Amino acid sequence: MTELGDASQSILERLRLLREADAATHGGRVLSYVYDSGLPELDELAAEAMRLVQPVNGLDPTAFPSVAALERDVVGFARRMLHGDDDTVGSVTSGGTESCMLAVKTARDVWAAAQVSGDPATQPILALRPRIIAPSTVHAAFHKAAHYFGLDLDLVPVDATGRVDVDDLRTRFGPDVALVVVSAPSYPFGVLDPVAEVASAAARHGIPCHVDACIGGFALAWWGDLPPWDLAVPGVTSISADLHKYGYAPKGASVLLQRDRDRQRQQFFATARWPGYPVVNATLLGSKSAGALAAAWAIVQRLGDEGFANLVASCRRATEQLHTLIDNVVGLQVVGSPTGPLLAVETDTTVPKRMRVDPHHWADRVSELGFTLQLQPGFTQSNALTLPHTTHLTITPVTERMLPQLSDALTRAAADVRGKARANPRFAVQALRMSGALGRELTADKAQALLSRFGVGGKPNGSAGTATPLPAKMAPLIALVEQLPAEFAERLLIEVLARQVEPPATT
Ligand SMILES: *Cc1c(COP(=O)(O)O)cnc(C)c1O
Repeated sequence: MTELGDASQSILERLRLLREADAATHGGRVLSYVYDSGLPELDELAAEAMRLVQPVNGLDPTAFPSVAALERDVVGFARRMLHGDDDTVGSVTSGGTESCMLAVKTARDVWAAAQVSGDPATQPILALRPRIIAPSTVHAAFHKAAHYFGLDLDLVPVDATGRVDVDDLRTRFGPDVALVVVSAPSYPFGVLDPVAEVASAAARHGIPCHVDACIGGFALAWWGDLPPWDLAVPGVTSISADLHKYGYAPKGASVLLQRDRDRQRQQFFATARWPGYPVVNATLLGSKSAGALAAAWAIVQRLGDEGFANLVASCRRATEQLHTLIDNVVGLQVVGSPTGPLLAVETDTTVPKRMRVDPHHWADRVSELGFTLQLQPGFTQSNALTLPHTTHLTITPVTERMLPQLSDALTRAAADVRGKARANPRFAVQALRMSGALGRELTADKAQALLSRFGVGGKPNGSAGTATPLPAKMAPLIALVEQLPAEFAERLLIEVLARQVEPPATT
């Protein structure tokens, strides 16, 4: 290895300094986004594997056969784990979003091909937009896929614990439905959707069924005593599972499996109609890193079934203990009966108001005590049934050894905010409505000016370089997001994120 000179050393020093502002990726302090196996050797192994393929271009596995070999192994492992057979094929993608998007793109193209080759009497259907049906707890990646690929997303309301009624899904089936999606489990409340019932009903209508096991796949496979939820279920046509979640790989790796070859070929894009090299891509990117793939491969080799099973057992023990602990905190309760290493926590409204704990004030207080939880806004469904605003916990293997400190923080925080009313920005929202701002298109500068009025934006009037830190307390901000019309809130959120990466003004 080449020794780095002073100039390079000081560049890395600056990077280390920047990294200090980041959320803790290890140690179990952050209960979302990061998945710490608690095994430092796995991280070292992943880093070395990434380094070995650093200069490789994953675009072309014929020029870099190592990329194909790694992908074959990972797909093979996932196929066994998720009960596919010899006709099950797959791809390693850059993450859950890409896997979900490709599942939708595939379904759309399979659907469109069937319209063209079918009975001429059905031709007018081509004038319809294809539709995806899913419980309203389905991951936002499917909103994104529908948006990018021109499908309608038909969201089926769930009950207040996140469960969907199979009949509610079934009654929406029709010739324009290109895909039905269920989750194993869903992100917001950790509900394992009724995969077998939905997949068999869909199969009877000739509708493909995708199981989004992005978060759960590499955990549920070793969880034990579950109803079938993967390719073991007839009628499941594709499934996604993220290597960079409970596969403990660095970010940039997920697997998408398709039940059969002919379906999967619709996932590809190929063109020989330009003057350059023939392009054949199974995934969305062109030139791409093989780093996360190599790291994921190395981790899968190292852990094997037994290694995964041990880590999942630890997640399960920690999840069960936290579930019990939270249900015993007066004023809080776990939403429904989740499956897998996720929990959502809501106010227990069966106790008097002064005993209730608002999950968002609770999360803000827990944060001051050293653990970061994830706030989830309340959500009103198409049938007007509102899903509660909750706080989300993702439990990883490292959580178990942090249980004493974590339990203490969760209990203390609840005591500290018990009886405190939920944040309610209705006056701010009312003022906005009166000013007419809600109806108007927002320019970047107007959006920024509004944000600074809410204490979020930095300097108003579009001065560049206003990468503004978010407020320390998230509860009021999420409450605002809940009460504003969705499109307006989305526009403001875009502004917050866009400003983060604006270079400083030159004048
Ligand atoms: C995380 C997640 C996704 C999206 O995955 P990314 O890796 O964040 O792109 C999709 N579905 C579910 C259920 C998830 O939890």
